[in-house]
Amino acid sequence: MTEHTTVAIIGAGVAGLTLGNMLQRNGIACVVLEKHHRGHVEQRQRAGTVDSRGVHMFRDWGLQEVVESDAFPEVESGFFIDGEELPIDFAEDDNKDSIFCPQQVLVRNLTDLFLRGGGDLRFEADGVSLADISGEHPVVRSGETVLSCDFIAGCDGDRGVSRTAVPAGALTRYSHEFGYSWLSVLAEVPTDPSGMAIHSRGLAGMIPRGAHASRIYLQCRVDDTLAQWPDERVWSELEARFGKPVATGRIADKRLVPLRSVVHSPMHHGKLYLLGDAAHIVPPMSAKGINLALHDAEVFARAVIKHTEDGDPSLLDAYSETCLRHVWNYQAFATWITEVMHNAGDPSHEGEFRKQVARAELQRQFTSPAANRLFGELTAGVN
Ligand SMILES: Cc1cc2nc3c(=O)[nH]c(=O)nc-3n(C[C@H](O)[C@H](O)[C@H](O)COP(=O)(O)OP(=O)(O)OC[C@H]3O[C@@H](n4cnc5c(N)ncnc54)[C@H](O)[C@@H]3O)c2cc1C
Repeated sequence: MTEHTTVAIIGAGVAGLTLGNMLQRNGIACVVLEKHHRGHVEQRQRAGTVDSRGVHMFRDWGLQEVVESDAFPEVESGFFIDGEELPIDFAEDDNKDSIFCPQQVLVRNLTDLFLRGGGDLRFEADGVSLADISGEHPVVRSGETVLSCDFIAGCDGDRGVSRTAVPAGALTRYSHEFGYSWLSVLAEVPTDPSGMAIHSRGLAGMIPRGAHASRIYLQCRVDDTLAQWPDERVWSELEARFGKPVATGRIADKRLVPLRSVVHSPMHHGKLYLLGDAAHIVPPMSAKGINLALHDAEVFARAVIKHTEDGDPSLLDAYSETCLRHVWNYQAFATWITEVMHNAGDPSHEGEFRKQVARAELQRQFTSPAANRLFGELTAGVN
């Protein structure tokens, strides 16, 4: 039997659940279809910080409890070069309202709130497929479910199915591979030192994930394998790159993340709108992925509400252009900070000269209020 809803949302990540809660608050029918089971989605560790814009957005929509319950206290983080912490006199910034809220906590809070409000969220939705995305009423299928809708919100990440429903050639893919990876490690140790370090051996990072847990990042080659990174090497590299002793502990997770930037343009086709990672990827050094997903969700929610309440499609028509302006600004920042922090890539840029340029750039950027706005997520939000 065919059901009907206004918005079919594919994916219960940050973008999908934020959109679902915004629509629900405004009495707009939606159904969220999520491939995985609830436990899986609520335990997936990734980003950590919601920036000031995101915090204000949740407050404006009356959804502040999703970032305010279970948020972690901020821990001061810094920049290091060859073991020396940079004496940056951080400008009073307007990112002071950013909140350190691990992504799995945000997702759990968004899920609880949506379900408490009577939201229709279907986990373990198998084999989701999209049809008639350019027609009046597109259709989403999954198992026995046949869902006709007015709009589809593709919030299913870079490897989801939504974007693949767009006819070949309708979207342009812009991408950049940085040429190196991060070994991302979750370890049961307190975070000391806390921050990001530039070193001739490559970037290192250590960021809190609770009182006794830290995320550790070590720049490595794109062709490295996990077998080349036994635990002892993780600790010795971390110590060498920060230039100081670090406490060791149990390593709970290790993965390799190639650094890349991707943008798909436009961010919609027919009645299908792409949000979050389904439309764009930013390198983790920028810690902007989660915040871009929140921005897309808000722009799309406002557009659907205007269309439903006033019959006015202007915000929907402008959705892609509005989001892409924001996305490219963040991509510009992400490219800059990624290149400044990594002593790799073009060999003529390696070594002492590059470090001195990085020192000057970091000091110049983060003593200006506008650039400093980005600092909160930069040091606390990477994963
Ligand atoms: C390893 C890793 C580390 C990261 N570190 C950071 C960081 O430090 N800082 C930062 O800001 N960002 C980081 N990011 C990026 C950030 O996590 C994403 O930008 C953010 O999750 C985007 O939210 P989203 O809702 O668009 O996608 P997601 O959070 O990926 O949500 C997509 C949802 O869709 C579901 N789904 C997928 N396919 C289907 C399907 N076929 N049918 C139904 N559901 C489907 C998925 O299960 C998932 O629940 C990281 C990402 C990864 C992968």
